Amino acid sequence: MQSQFPFVARSQNFIGGEWCSSPSGNTLDILNPRHGKSMGTVVDSTTEDVKRAVENAKAAFPAWSKTPLKERAQILYRLKQLMEANVDELSWLLSHENGKTFAEAKGSVLKGIECIEMGTSLPNMVAGGQLDVSRGVNCETTFAPLGVVAGIIPFNFPTMVPLWMLPQALVSGNTFVLKPSEQVPYGSMRLAELLTEAGLPSGVLNIVNGSQEAVEAIVDNPDIKAVGFVGSTKVAKIVYERGAKTGKRMLCLGGAKNHLVVVPDANKELTASNVVASFTGCAGQRCMAASVMLAVGDVNPIIEQMVENANSMKLGEEMGAINSYQSVERITRYINEAEEAGARVLVDGRKANVPSAEGGLWIGPTLIDNVTPDMAIAKEEVFGPVLSIVRVDTLDEAIAIENSNPYGNAAAIFTSNGATSRYAIERFQAGMCGVNVGVPVPREPFSFGGWNDSKFGHGDMTGMDGYRFWTRPRKITTKWELQSDQTWMS
Ligand code: NAD
Repeated sequence: MQSQFPFVARSQNFIGGEWCSSPSGNTLDILNPRHGKSMGTVVDSTTEDVKRAVENAKAAFPAWSKTPLKERAQILYRLKQLMEANVDELSWLLSHENGKTFAEAKGSVLKGIECIEMGTSLPNMVAGGQLDVSRGVNCETTFAPLGVVAGIIPFNFPTMVPLWMLPQALVSGNTFVLKPSEQVPYGSMRLAELLTEAGLPSGVLNIVNGSQEAVEAIVDNPDIKAVGFVGSTKVAKIVYERGAKTGKRMLCLGGAKNHLVVVPDANKELTASNVVASFTGCAGQRCMAASVMLAVGDVNPIIEQMVENANSMKLGEEMGAINSYQSVERITRYINEAEEAGARVLVDGRKANVPSAEGGLWIGPTLIDNVTPDMAIAKEEVFGPVLSIVRVDTLDEAIAIENSNPYGNAAAIFTSNGATSRYAIERFQAGMCGVNVGVPVPREPFSFGGWNDSKFGHGDMTGMDGYRFWTRPRKITTKWELQSDQTWMS
């Protein structure tokens, strides 16, 4: 854990511009998965802590919402500069609290910066929207902030996911309560420090750390007008339903089971490298990771290349750690059960070790052939560096399996035939589709979001959908010609 960066493990909340502990004294331990050692603690906030954060956000709202939008966006320009200046430190922190490789951590910080750029573009994108609808009468739409809003974050992208929400929410004039993952909280806290340095006024962003109680207190709080949530489907659904009952605007992104379809005319090297990168990136702990490969017909040369690529990966350098002991246990159980049910483990990541990081939570790339669609590993979210290969005879059979899964985050096809790709894409049940791309994450300004059980709520999380989510349209009709014989229909 030695680093050239001074790391202060803040265990506190950030409320009204001050770092503070919870009067309850409750804390949670934070594990460094690369080394299997403690990294510090963090506050486990109570309902009272959340109330205090919301009161501070509410008090900051009038001044912040009246600050011109262009001025609010200037703070994001400064945040972008500060993040660029500190990119190595942010990546180091992220790689240690989450277990990612340094390169992956840096990639996610850079993607976070791209989301900030979307926020800085808003002043140039949201102008307009007025028309003289009849003689002397004008209609205009403006977008008003909602008030106090909140974001709830998963463990796998602790710096990037807050930046899916904060740029649009803050530039449009809301004040924010952020609940980071209780497993990986420090990246969000560092973000709060940088936003403060960038000039964000006190109370505009508040951080309440913690777990279930903090989430429920956010979702139930009547002063919070909208909640963005990213996490597992089970919790996304609970949070969505609980918040919607209170009348809040809710957008809850859930888990995934992403299918990659590979047909015989696919380019061998491109397909093998993209499929392996998809299931091993972030050690498979991302909602866009490939989980099932639907091998149509004879694609054995591609599978042999994948085995070679997966076997040559350097664990700890090219692939990171698993985030928790529970995750190691869950992933191993899925592999064991598939093997016992007759699947063939081609590359086995169980019992992997990294000599330079003894004690870390490691599972190597795992490729399993002859998985059948009824096995749990083919149906449920594994969230680890494991790819199940399901053999099918036809493209329609592959599409039917993809369609039958309840999730709908991502799906991709590998082929060199345009018509084949169009046929599959138009039939996939997924919000984000790829052609010869294993991780089809839409880059800004395209919005991010899945379908079906991968998302609860309307619209997507980033891009212009994000702006729409955190604002409400006000329609203004103005009569400029004060002639009594003319109505707005004239
Ligand atoms: P998680 O659902 O366990 O936790 C997410 C958040 O919910 C955390 O802040 C946590 O404190 C809170 N939470 C957990 N249990 C809760 C409960 N019972 N009641 C209220 N709040 C609760 O998810 P995770 O393990 O942190 O993250 C991994 C999951 O997130 C995977 O399923 C992954 O697919 C998903 N994910 C989805 C996307 C997407 O864009 N769709 C992106 C990243 C991660």
